[in-house]
Amino acid sequence: MTCFYCEGDMIDSTTTYVEDFGNCIVIIRNVPCSKCSQCGEVSYNGTVLKQIEKIVDDAYCQKLYDNCKSNPDNSNDNISLEDFAKELRIEL
Ligand SMILES: [Zn+2]
Repeated sequence: MTCFYCEGDMIDSTTTYVEDFGNCIVIIRNVPCSKCSQCGEVSYNGTVLKQIEKIVDDAYCQKLYDNCKSNPDNSNDNISLEDFAKELRIEL
């Protein structure tokens, strides 16, 4: 496999995946990936991407849920449980 950008060799590696939500950041360490030996471009396979998505969704959901429970009248965070459930397409 070669790099999409510079056509360097992609080698098996691990990386730290960071998802920034503005109010909070989800960090996943030791994520398996392919990394370009020339430019450092990282790509993930489909299985890993699905796992990342699930971890990030769970973390985001949990964070919002904790927020809503501990600060039901939090005016800084106007998202309701119903709103984010809708956003994440889950049933409460
Ligand atoms: Zn490259």
